[in-house]
Amino acid sequence: MDQYGIFVDGVSRPGRGEIYPLVEPWSGEPFAEVAQGDESDLDAAIAAASNAASRSGWERLEPIRRASVLSACSDQLRARVDDLGALEARNVGRPVAETKRNVELAADAFAYFASLTTHIRGSTIPMGPGLFDYTLREPYGVCGLITPWNNPIVLSSWKIAAGLAAGNALVVKPASATPLSVLVIGEILHECGLPAGQLNIVPGPGSTLGNRLVESSEVAKVSFTGSTQTGIGIIQRAAGHMAKVSLELGGKSPSLVFSDADLELALSGSVPAMFSNAGQMCTARSRVLVQDSVFDAFMDGFVKHVSAIKLGSPFDPDVGMGPVISRAQQEQVLGFLDRATAAGASVRHGGGIPAHPDLAKGFFVEPTILTDVEPDSEVSTEEVFGPVVVVDRFSTEEQAVERANASPYGLTATVWTRDLGRAHRVAAALRVGTVTVNTTKVSYVYAPFGGYKASGLGRELGLEGLDEFLQVKNVVIGL
Ligand code: NDP
Repeated sequence: MDQYGIFVDGVSRPGRGEIYPLVEPWSGEPFAEVAQGDESDLDAAIAAASNAASRSGWERLEPIRRASVLSACSDQLRARVDDLGALEARNVGRPVAETKRNVELAADAFAYFASLTTHIRGSTIPMGPGLFDYTLREPYGVCGLITPWNNPIVLSSWKIAAGLAAGNALVVKPASATPLSVLVIGEILHECGLPAGQLNIVPGPGSTLGNRLVESSEVAKVSFTGSTQTGIGIIQRAAGHMAKVSLELGGKSPSLVFSDADLELALSGSVPAMFSNAGQMCTARSRVLVQDSVFDAFMDGFVKHVSAIKLGSPFDPDVGMGPVISRAQQEQVLGFLDRATAAGASVRHGGGIPAHPDLAKGFFVEPTILTDVEPDSEVSTEEVFGPVVVVDRFSTEEQAVERANASPYGLTATVWTRDLGRAHRVAAALRVGTVTVNTTKVSYVYAPFGGYKASGLGRELGLEGLDEFLQVKNVVIGL
């Protein structure tokens, strides 16, 4: 069985913490072991990053040289789409066609932030006679990055590429369940010429290592993706030494299907927007709100599309949806379903563990469509993080917006309409970080991505994503 460890100061080695197995989520079989880090390994990683921040020269390197390291990493990722896609599929359980696409998205993030290294500029500010004022945009020094298990290669690449482009030194605490592709990125960057210590990766328990990273006075900036509950704890701990924090958190994102929508487009979009990665996406459009006059037609089509999703191994090309990540996650999703049905929800499709014996060992949950659910019920308001969608109806545009906004979260929303005026009105009225209209992909390297309300603080990607890893210094010169 392959063994993975930690990556500190340019060296891969076993951590001093416990060794634990990684299990293929569709077969339940162990396939690799991780010798995770302990507190002393994390401290060594922070010390290596601190040393690199002050001595490696990365921050002061000619920007085009920093860009060439990140570009080389992008090229390497693209060259390794097949093997990294397979590794990620094995670890996450997601169909390999999707994980290969995610390796390409990670490569895109490195290419994009490589291009931005040459555009980090300050400004001059007129102050009147006798003074000359300019700003410098500088890295923080050491940044702590904490990432979730659901989309490891993409979500960690967004942070690593932006943090390094800005000139920082990084310590990454990947999710315990899916640290493998992140560790490979560390090795690739090192091979591409990143100085030792500039990027350190320490798998280990969030409750100990994650806390220690956030509380370290050496860490000036924390960038976290994960649950809102963990994010709240992080912001409280980081406040102890005023570390800057950006948070990408949970969601309960709505799709709004208006009667003038292209229904076929709305249907074919709403299925992957909800069920990709078995619904384990912060951006899952898990509340579908449909206008009365097209509700029945939409439901018929939705049930038909969802019934066609084949479950199984990520390496079967016909499979559209894999398992959830673990037995614990499976039980959590089933708990939501039990409580929803006990409260009167109608199950229009799915509703439990699939009956097929081939799937018995994996952590599968059927793609599930619920109706007759109260808007303020648990399953309508809380993030399930599994393949469960709630479909409800509305009569007017105002009601649709009101329902869509009636959530503590505000990550994304998708609007289906052919009415241009309505598209812009509704996009302006929705309290979310990203609105898509007649299309479902919500994150592009070129554009800011992040949440309103309980879905987060700050932005990833785009120019704003780079800004999260830079601070502004103002310099005033008396002439
Ligand atoms: P968690 O918040 O449980 O974990 C995220 C990361 O934080 C993991 O690396 C975890 O380590 C670590 N962690 C856990 N506890 C602490 C702690 N006390 N201090 C510091 N770090 C800690 O989220 P999940 O991994 O379960 O991911 C699912 C959640 O992430 C969902 O709620 C989802 O919405 C959200 N998410 C948000 C995205 C966004 O961009 N907005 C994107 C993807 C997911 P360990 O693995 O060891 O527990």
